[in-house]
Amino acid sequence: EELYRIKGWGEPYFSINAAGHAIVSPKGERGGSLDLYELVQALKLRDLGLPLLIRFSDILEDRIERLNACFAKAIARYKYPGSYRGVFPIKCNQQRHLIEDLVRFGEPYQFGLEAGSKPELAIALATLKTPGALLICNGYKDRAYIETAMLARRLGQTAIVVLEQVEEVQIAIDAARSLGIDPVLGVRAKLTSKGIGRWGGSSGDRAKFGLTIPEIVQAIEQLEAANMLHCLQLLHFHIGSQISSISVIKDAIREASQIYVSLAQSGAQMKYLDVGGGLAVDYDGSKTNFHASKNYNMQNYANDIVAEVKEACQERDLPVPTLISESGRAIASHQSVLVFDVLGTSEVCTDLPEPTQEKEHLILRNLYETYRAIGVENYQEAYHDAIQFKEEAISLFNFGYLSLRERARAEQLYWACCRKIQAIVGEQEYVPDDLEDLEKIMASIYYVNLSVFQSAPDSWAIDQLFPIVPLHRLDEQPTIRATLADLTCDSDGKIDRFIDLLDVKSLLELHPLHPGEPYYLGMFLGGAYQEIMGNLHNLFGDTNTVHIKLTPKGYQIEHVVKGDSVTEVLGYVQYDAEDLVESIRKQTEQALQEGTITLQESQRLLRNYEQSLSGYTYLNP
Ligand code: PLP
Repeated sequence: EELYRIKGWGEPYFSINAAGHAIVSPKGERGGSLDLYELVQALKLRDLGLPLLIRFSDILEDRIERLNACFAKAIARYKYPGSYRGVFPIKCNQQRHLIEDLVRFGEPYQFGLEAGSKPELAIALATLKTPGALLICNGYKDRAYIETAMLARRLGQTAIVVLEQVEEVQIAIDAARSLGIDPVLGVRAKLTSKGIGRWGGSSGDRAKFGLTIPEIVQAIEQLEAANMLHCLQLLHFHIGSQISSISVIKDAIREASQIYVSLAQSGAQMKYLDVGGGLAVDYDGSKTNFHASKNYNMQNYANDIVAEVKEACQERDLPVPTLISESGRAIASHQSVLVFDVLGTSEVCTDLPEPTQEKEHLILRNLYETYRAIGVENYQEAYHDAIQFKEEAISLFNFGYLSLRERARAEQLYWACCRKIQAIVGEQEYVPDDLEDLEKIMASIYYVNLSVFQSAPDSWAIDQLFPIVPLHRLDEQPTIRATLADLTCDSDGKIDRFIDLLDVKSLLELHPLHPGEPYYLGMFLGGAYQEIMGNLHNLFGDTNTVHIKLTPKGYQIEHVVKGDSVTEVLGYVQYDAEDLVESIRKQTEQALQEGTITLQESQRLLRNYEQSLSGYTYLNP
């Protein structure tokens, strides 16, 4: 448990049972758990091949309950004379079953949705039916977007159009006039308080979105001139996602609270303060302000927002706003686990070298002598000798003085030296700098049935860390340190950054494969952003997805969403399966006529071709 830091990032949902299997407790502390390894076995019997994304709707429900409970507690603690009404940013995970679940689970809290584009607005309008729940309309907007959002009020939706660009102010005024609707408007402020880390660019004076303070003042004047200042009721800001440090959040709330009270005093009928996203997820379980973690919990977050806003409003004798947060990562990350299998491994040569013979080439005799003499007193020097002799051996080979067999022997001797040195290094307290890379050089590569580009795009694009853990054999000490290589023919298709204590480590502890036995790994906390940003590199498509719900007797499979078939991914690049089959059929007929293929072979080729078109894009080991 400690090795994979599960307690830190997994509580209360993920842990290990006595059988050494990873287990999931979808309702958190409120009981009921499932053995993930057994679940995967049971799902495989239903023809659900790996990689497989398993969603736990109970976790989603628990996350929503937790967030609302934290705000309710903060509101009670600080006697905040207002309420909290959160929204889920659809961009985090647009999958229909998830959004429908989320809206249903959010009903008791009037939990709403945030849209950042026209397609997301289309989802929100059709899905959100909770009376009083907010529909926050963010992102770049044209007239059609703004009109649709305004007309939605006629359907009883509490749609709020948040003005993010200077041009949108006039478009909103014109749309409201022509529709004869009194809309509810918001402004997104560019705060000076900056988020730090990967998403820090979402704020600051030169951020992509939002209005600067002079632009907000100008918007007030424009709205006032159009007799619409009373429509301005919301202030929004978003300083970036995964804000690891609570002090950054506090600074932003303080600045935003002052802007809020100033807007209220300038004649706008302010009612809402929307603090955006940023509530972080503790991917490495370190509970620090390291970028993969956070140095606060959800309750601290809610407390700071509630206390800060109350104080700012009370100082000016103003009513407090309804608080809104657009927490996406914190709601959606935990609900899914990506399960994938290991197809094979590649290890550096492990053969013990034969003793040298007198007639061997001098370079091989030197390498063998280096190998033989390695000891505690000379291992560092021996390492450099081994590297030099190996390089010399390759040069000799390149100039024709060493045969292929001799080169193979040189490489085998080199790896034998490295292994012997590594064993000595492992026993030393201090590792010399020049030997630090040795472990990485000697590491195994585990080939996994997965596309990093499809299933963990942020791991490839921005070096995001996700916890990765075997689903079984967790009662057995892992003896191999490895990196993961995916199925794509791309050297970037690998994972060699893993969570560590306040750091990143380049190797993951794994178990040696048992012949004929599957080895399952789970990638956790990837439920936000990864699915939609995944791409079709090498035409590896969407993975299979199942939705699992706990029942008193165990679990129930609520939905199965089959991953892309080969035909489907080929369709994305305008290939028609029937045309393809026809092309192969014609080629086989031609080959039959020419006598280069038998009828049996041609039939087998066509059958295989057709079967693979209707099959999964991943491997079926
Ligand atoms: N709101 C806005 C405007 C965003 O751009 C984002 C994402 O970056 C979010 C909310 C969600 O943020 P998070 O996932 O950190 O909760």
